[in-house]
Amino acid sequence: MIKRHVYRCERCRLSTPPLPLHRVHAERQRHRDEFHGGLVPDGETITTGGRSERTSTERWVVALVLTALLISILARLIG
Ligand SMILES: [Zn+2]
Repeated sequence: MIKRHVYRCERCRLSTPPLPLHRVHAERQRHRDEFHGGLVPDGETITTGGRSERTSTERWVVALVLTALLISILARLIG
């Protein structure tokens, strides 16, 4: 699962949408440069936030496990 993070600048009362950590770091730098002259504003935070989204591989594994479970349940009912 890819963890999502949110950058928040308390001074500007702005938050990014939930993003991967490397993108949050890039957004933080961009925000500092654009709004604070490259300085670090008070009260900025990076938190884990938002819904984590499953990768397509994880979805595939979950689907396989569920299918295997269903087949074993059906096999017991029939056999
Ligand atoms: Zn700011």
